[in-house]
Amino acid sequence: MALTVEGIEKRYGAIHALKGVSLSIEAGEVRGLVGENGAGKSTLGKIVAGVVAPDAGEMWVDGDPLRLRSAADALAHGISIVAQELAVVPHLTVAENVMLGREPRRGLAVDHKELRSRFLELSEQVGFSLDPGARLGTLRKSEQQKAEILRAVARDARLIVMDEPTAALSSDEARQLVAATRRLAAEGRTIVFVSHHLDEVLAVCDNITVLRDGRFVRTGPSESETADSLVTSMLGQHLA
Ligand code: ATP
Repeated sequence: MALTVEGIEKRYGAIHALKGVSLSIEAGEVRGLVGENGAGKSTLGKIVAGVVAPDAGEMWVDGDPLRLRSAADALAHGISIVAQELAVVPHLTVAENVMLGREPRRGLAVDHKELRSRFLELSEQVGFSLDPGARLGTLRKSEQQKAEILRAVARDARLIVMDEPTAALSSDEARQLVAATRRLAAEGRTIVFVSHHLDEVLAVCDNITVLRDGRFVRTGPSESETADSLVTSMLGQHLA
């Protein structure tokens, strides 16, 4: 298994956001996480990516137990998150954001030609076209989001958590992202795909896990799910 979590608990003060969640995801799998607002999807994604620390529970990556101290620690273990809160540096170019470390390097020469050619190679691999020389802060949010995904790939993340990755995208851009996600999985990367858009989740994911009120409800293969079957589980009701 690429990722296993067991008994994950998280409280934010009085809010019990995750109540003992366990699941396993295979390498090369795109796993959807769905649930109503507040079900705990983002919290689980953030815990997997080291952004939020769980109160209890265990995590294994490629079979090895892992206790993450931070997002940087997660990245060092090949885990990256692409979230709504963009982590890009607006005054740097697209290529710099994607190919360099987060902090601008002072006094260290950067070979921009090399940077650009590595960037273009990577963009082609993922299927995004972005101007490598544009200042990232001047681009649309959708383009910034694509740069974030490229950055995760550039850092050779094996496990990528995508938290509402299409929220800022047009439907064309969302389709591009779905195609890129499938390509990343075909390379053996594991994707955790958190989204409210059930049609998109059904299109991109191999399997879908439903969370409800901080609890794991069930996991099923996308081909045997429909938006209705997912909503039924998300709400904990049986449709008439
Ligand atoms: P949404 O789809 O609305 O993002 P979600 O399923 O991703 O929902 P979470 O964002 O994980 O759910 O939130 C789970 C619960 O924890 C919610 O009640 C939310 O209000 C609460 N919560 C999340 N983050 C924090 C925080 N930083 N501080 C306090 N409460 C939080």
